Amino acid sequence: MGDIVHDQNAEQSRLAAQHVERLLEYGQREGLLESGDEYAVRNALLDLLNIAEPWSGPLDTLQAQTAPNGQASECGAEAPVTGPIDLLQPLLDYAADRGIIPDRTTTWYDLLDARIMGLLMPRQGEVIRKFLGLVSSGDVQKATEWFYRLSSASNYIRWDRIQNNEYWRTETPYGALEITINLSKPEKDPKDIAAERAAPRSGYPQCLLCVENVGYAGRINHPARQNHRVLPVTIGGEPWFFQYSPYLYYNEHCILFDKRHIPMKISEQTFIKLLDFVQQFPHYFAGSNADLPIVGGSILSHDHFQGGRHRFPMEAATVEAAFTHPEFPTSSIGIVHWPLSVVRIASEDRQELEKLAAGLLSSWRSYSDSSVAVEAYSGQGETRIPHNTITPIARMNQEGKYELDLVLRNNRCSDEHPDGIFHPHQELHHIKKENIGLIEVMGLAVLPGRLKQELAEIRDVLSGFKQLSEEELGQADHPLNKHAAWIQRLQSSVGTNMKPIEAEQLLREETGAIFLQVLKDAGVFKQDNPGRQAFRRFLVSFGCLVK
Ligand SMILES: [Zn+2]
Repeated sequence: MGDIVHDQNAEQSRLAAQHVERLLEYGQREGLLESGDEYAVRNALLDLLNIAEPWSGPLDTLQAQTAPNGQASECGAEAPVTGPIDLLQPLLDYAADRGIIPDRTTTWYDLLDARIMGLLMPRQGEVIRKFLGLVSSGDVQKATEWFYRLSSASNYIRWDRIQNNEYWRTETPYGALEITINLSKPEKDPKDIAAERAAPRSGYPQCLLCVENVGYAGRINHPARQNHRVLPVTIGGEPWFFQYSPYLYYNEHCILFDKRHIPMKISEQTFIKLLDFVQQFPHYFAGSNADLPIVGGSILSHDHFQGGRHRFPMEAATVEAAFTHPEFPTSSIGIVHWPLSVVRIASEDRQELEKLAAGLLSSWRSYSDSSVAVEAYSGQGETRIPHNTITPIARMNQEGKYELDLVLRNNRCSDEHPDGIFHPHQELHHIKKENIGLIEVMGLAVLPGRLKQELAEIRDVLSGFKQLSEEELGQADHPLNKHAAWIQRLQSSVGTNMKPIEAEQLLREETGAIFLQVLKDAGVFKQDNPGRQAFRRFLVSFGCLVK
């Protein structure tokens, strides 16, 4: 009996050693390892996985299992390389068999796969040297492409999960909006949730963005980042870092963050930094979330931007009213035809544009117009609470000018709209109730993963495969209860005899239309006559002249 177990273990180890060789081969092919690195990396992998001896046979027959690159994803982004997840999986299973990790949950697998890939990674200094070398050869696009590929090859960008996202476009009077259902973040195992709750609180790293995440081993309630590398960038004269997002929402979705863990703050410095970045990386846009709750992003505690190489619906939207300003003679100023309230300014003169943006920001911060429910402050004097801010987006436009889209935001709440007057209203929460941040503002919906299953069930109701009584739908704990009004409206307009594919298409269009309404709710000046006039009044109050 003991001999059989021993033989099984020996065979398992031999197989694992084979997978180690395949991973080394992958690392060499993807340029993670340089020639000569393989000896030390092999030994480090054998040590981590507690394997006594390396594989010594041929590997030819195994190579075919590692596909070449080019996995297409629906999110408008394409993986530059097939990640190593197929190569890692057997090693993770092996580690679980051998008790190297205590459980077979996604959390433990994620902690170990980052650790394994970390052993294959070039050091941060080597990554910086290579990147700066490519930049100094005059091709910054080639430099970011190289870093994007590295961040994908390292499994830091989780292409295997990003490809689970649903993606479609919905035509609207404002252009085609982009809709994604975000399925890339794996659901937590209840065992891990319990373990997380029991885990001691730690203040290191201070947050998910902090540079101290580079190489961090992770823990049950913080992701492992041994395979994570960041690049230094100087913007507005200050040290920041550049990285990609592990769960991309669009092509080359990158994140820029301050070296210091300091809170988000929209100021003239924000415009200077954003424009400095797009000057250095002209193939990328960069934008910041607003700095107030409700209208800001999910992380307000660490100043950061998001950028990337993607033309969002808002960028394609046209200017519907043009203005000039005597103090900013080279700058164009326009109101964008968009459900949110966007001032688009552009100039060849970067400094002039920075001053113009700063002027608009300070003017907006204190601007009120009670005819359209815009109030800059609540309360009085020292204790008054500010409500107005801006979500700014910078790019080099197609004419080669610096361009800023300044999205006017207000986070005031009322008795009628306790979650925010300019926030998706209650009746839309069945689709979207989270903050409307930078990415959504630009016309890309990031909808919660629960919707995949819910939309599939509603499709089945509309095509008669699933019976749903009014009584069932009325039960508060029924998963479709939140959609009850929507389902009843759909049933009475299209019945319950649709072809499944048509029902699915209808639901996609309906979801897109609801997202448009979400954006309209977030607009401070509505796209109607009173709203348009109020928007013009704001610009005129700042000194703009109708062109
Ligand atoms: Zn931080």
